[in-house]
Amino acid sequence: MKTYQEWQALRNTISLHSDAYINGVFTPAQSGDTFDCINPTDESLLAKVASCDEADVNLATAAAKAAFKSGVWSNMAPNKRKRILQKWADLLEEHQDELALIDTLDMGKSISEMVGIDVPDSIDSLRWSAECIDKLYGEIAPTNPDNLALISREPLGVVAIITPWNYPLMMVMWKIAPALAAGNSIILKPSEKSPLSALRIAELATQAGIPDGVFNVLPGFGHTAGKALALHHDIGTLAFTGSSRVAGLLMQYAGQSNMKRVWLEAGGKSPCIVFEDCKDIEAAAKGAATAIFTNQGEVCIACSRLYVHSSIKDAFMVALLEAAKTYVPGDPLDPATKMGPMVDKAQLDTVTGFIESAIAEGATLALGGVPDYQEGQGFYAKPTIFTDASHAMTFVQEEIFGPVLAVMTFDTEAEAIELANDSKYGLGASIWTNDLGRAHRVSRLLESGMVWVNTWGDGDTTVPFGGVKASGNGRDKSWHALEKYTEIKNTWISLK
Ligand code: NAD
Repeated sequence: MKTYQEWQALRNTISLHSDAYINGVFTPAQSGDTFDCINPTDESLLAKVASCDEADVNLATAAAKAAFKSGVWSNMAPNKRKRILQKWADLLEEHQDELALIDTLDMGKSISEMVGIDVPDSIDSLRWSAECIDKLYGEIAPTNPDNLALISREPLGVVAIITPWNYPLMMVMWKIAPALAAGNSIILKPSEKSPLSALRIAELATQAGIPDGVFNVLPGFGHTAGKALALHHDIGTLAFTGSSRVAGLLMQYAGQSNMKRVWLEAGGKSPCIVFEDCKDIEAAAKGAATAIFTNQGEVCIACSRLYVHSSIKDAFMVALLEAAKTYVPGDPLDPATKMGPMVDKAQLDTVTGFIESAIAEGATLALGGVPDYQEGQGFYAKPTIFTDASHAMTFVQEEIFGPVLAVMTFDTEAEAIELANDSKYGLGASIWTNDLGRAHRVSRLLESGMVWVNTWGDGDTTVPFGGVKASGNGRDKSWHALEKYTEIKNTWISLK
């Protein structure tokens, strides 16, 4: 791992792309408009980035459609596609420090997490999807002997991918890797808050041999570029990660246009349940602190609702406050920093608003509180914990997407399950117990796409990621992700 000084030195050597990437060429927005990309650590300007809109969407869609129809990628032998994607993964590995640095500068997440998690995970996703693609067989159905019914998987066509800013490179790669491996042409619209790494990897994609028009990147806002993609008639599939509010809009846009297939990875308000029989209160407290303060709480699976059995609440709170002390907001380029600034002023204001509402609604502040923002000094929030919270409070129901934890108590297993499920979301859940039967029983009853037992946040490319209820549909990662970027075709052949 580089030192703080070495990261700063690298910063002075890299140049950041700011134009859209269409048909293998960096291109300014047709309108000439740009938006400012700000470093949340010191509020300095990183780049003036092309602000794409409908005109750019039309250009990119035409290029993607032409590339798809030509078969240059969609009809390439899978093992050849695999080799190109592997070469791309090699290039990402070669540039891993640069990619880590770009996301840290762009959205404020800690460089150690970028180096330890985001970049290796992204490269792993790409390698895994690439490896799968020449192992995806079709089927022959057991029909009557007069027929041969083939079931094959085909690429979908032009796929639009819209991503958030909290794990810029990783959220992009979880979608583009399987979508490209399956042979689709792609238009990616990264978040306007963190578009820079997507532009760099597009350049490396061309270098690796991905043909022009197959992978396009349109930086821009949701209500312009994003909406135009979602309404476009030549886009057959839309894969999205972001808030549940926007996920709902995308379903409407699909209905208003061509009924495009919509895959949604949306918001969360995940519960953490600590039972009285958890084997190690300190380990559970550390796990609970990690589950809310990792990445400044800007994590879809952040456990922002904590339920602790009333008999161990006091001991647990001592351990939780101790564990929280290790999260000291600081410069994310310092490898020792575990918590950087919030992505922008708007997000800091959102977090501030929820803290103020929690205080106004009667929760007790146990740690942190309203941020001490000073203009030009970065968008830093404080690790914040409230006790005496209840489900009637706004900050217990709504996703905050910041380092704010609500602690509540329960007395029975049934009550814990009922409280945990009392949410419109259903993304992740973490339970802490030493009772194997309880672990299975509770996991089954939780309305959640993912459950972690005596841990939180573990993940692997081989395991699907996603939620239920307002947290979305479909899954990223694993075979399940690859399947969602293909269409099933039946071909009946008469043998008579
Ligand atoms: P967001 O919904 O505001 O934006 C996500 C993307 O959608 C951005 O690229 C944005 O420009 C675009 N967008 C916004 N309005 C649009 C519109 N009208 N039409 C088309 N596109 C539009 O979310 P965000 O603030 O970027 O990210 C935070 C959210 O993402 C949180 O809710 C978090 O839980 C969620 N998230 C979910 C997962 C998951 O896997 N379930 C992972 C990461 C983040």
